[in-house]
Amino acid sequence: MPELPEVETIRRQLEKAVVGKMIKATEVLSIKRLNVSAAALKKGTVGAKIIAVRRRAKLLMIDLGNGRSLAIHLKMTGRVLLVGKNAPPAKHTFVIFKLSNGEQLMWEDYRRFGFLKLFSKSELEKYLAAQKYGPEPLDKNFDAAALSACFNKRPRVKIKQLIMDPSSIAGIGNIYAAEALHFARVRPDRAAGDLSKKEIVELLKGIRKVLLGSIAVRGTSADAYVDAMGEAGDNVKNLKVYGREGESCLRRDGGVIKKTKLAGRGTYWCPACQQ
Ligand SMILES: [Zn+2]
Repeated sequence: MPELPEVETIRRQLEKAVVGKMIKATEVLSIKRLNVSAAALKKGTVGAKIIAVRRRAKLLMIDLGNGRSLAIHLKMTGRVLLVGKNAPPAKHTFVIFKLSNGEQLMWEDYRRFGFLKLFSKSELEKYLAAQKYGPEPLDKNFDAAALSACFNKRPRVKIKQLIMDPSSIAGIGNIYAAEALHFARVRPDRAAGDLSKKEIVELLKGIRKVLLGSIAVRGTSADAYVDAMGEAGDNVKNLKVYGREGESCLRRDGGVIKKTKLAGRGTYWCPACQQ
């Protein structure tokens, strides 16, 4: 499932490739996961220039020169792909934006949990406010004190569950929560309010390291995720615990990676180094 690094990878690629381009035509193949009619989507996008590509949590936003924005959430299996002029749509392509340079921006989602919404500026602001997203973990202002404040708001919640909750910290999902906790040597089922100051500092370091490390190699393709160019990301080889159940901990501490359930999610951790 795409998390912050995967959405950020797509954002960066699109920022480079499509900002300044105009949407010449919009084709709607399915309206199932749209918030407006096909006619309204066309009217709101055709002729508009793409002026920015932004991200908040796992939400991708494409700002248009006409004051509107497209908000895309990839959820489980969504993809945003930039393809050439003659590339045919895939079976689950829902919308195609044909750009002024001949390229096509396609949005597809075979499990259909994701969505594409067309918003005016004020609608987008309202929508973002309603999501109640927590702070962005890669923000310069997000320091150990800010992380500690997140934990103190809900001290009894298990630490992994808390860092995966977008209303407490934005964009960290199952993979990066497991990796960051392993980095910080913290057991995933500890109560958030229980962590020492030193552990919080380490966890923040871990969160930054695993997110930035993944962005540097265009994300983790443990499932259906591919970047905007259709390429798999290379981060699987950097994973220390996720997906490594039954294998020895890479710290060579005698630990064998366990997989347990925490708040309904498969949780990988090392009983030897994560206390
Ligand atoms: Zn270990």
